[in-house]
Amino acid sequence: MSNHEVLEGGHKLPLVEDFYTIQGEGFHTGKPAYFIRLGGCDVGCAWCDAKYTWNPRMYPPTPIEEIVERAVACAAQSIVITGGEPLLYPLEILTKSLKERGLAIFLETSGSHPFSGIFDWVCLSPKRKSAPLEGAYAHADELKVVIQSEEDLLWAEECAAKVGEKCLLFLQPEWSVAEEIMPLLVEYAKRNPQWSISIQAHKYMRIP
Ligand code: SF4
Repeated sequence: MSNHEVLEGGHKLPLVEDFYTIQGEGFHTGKPAYFIRLGGCDVGCAWCDAKYTWNPRMYPPTPIEEIVERAVACAAQSIVITGGEPLLYPLEILTKSLKERGLAIFLETSGSHPFSGIFDWVCLSPKRKSAPLEGAYAHADELKVVIQSEEDLLWAEECAAKVGEKCLLFLQPEWSVAEEIMPLLVEYAKRNPQWSISIQAHKYMRIP
């Protein structure tokens, strides 16, 4: 996406894909939702499931009206805006337009870019490589920390200390080590019951 388009203030966004599915992670697991996936991410997690999204230039700047019309054409009551990192872009126009159509709007973000848009639910998934901006924590309804090794639990606690009191806390095993690390997470959550465990249920359901 060119600077010009970013300066258009979010009238167009680099759309990677949009699809109706069942949410697979975190608090809303199991609920149907329409996903809008935007291109571009500069965080670079080694285990990223969506590496194909990283370069936003590969995806056409798509007018908001087109994205919204496609979303409202399906039965979904909830929209998940994900990426890549959606907060690379100003999201006011997209979220306001979806809201006007009566849809609930959820965000999946690493919090590493300035917050924009109106959301009913924000899932903050902080990444150590590119930590959330300090302002991001207050927006989180749900903190979902991917755990690859034991030391990630310290990072999870560091982030948990910054979110609001009502924010739900989830530890999610990184998929490639999920089997090995699960016993550790189970014991950790039992000892620290403010934490719940999130598993990537969509992978078991074989859906996107
Ligand atoms: S922040 Fe998300 S999209 Fe970006 S590299 Fe990490 S997992 Fe992938």
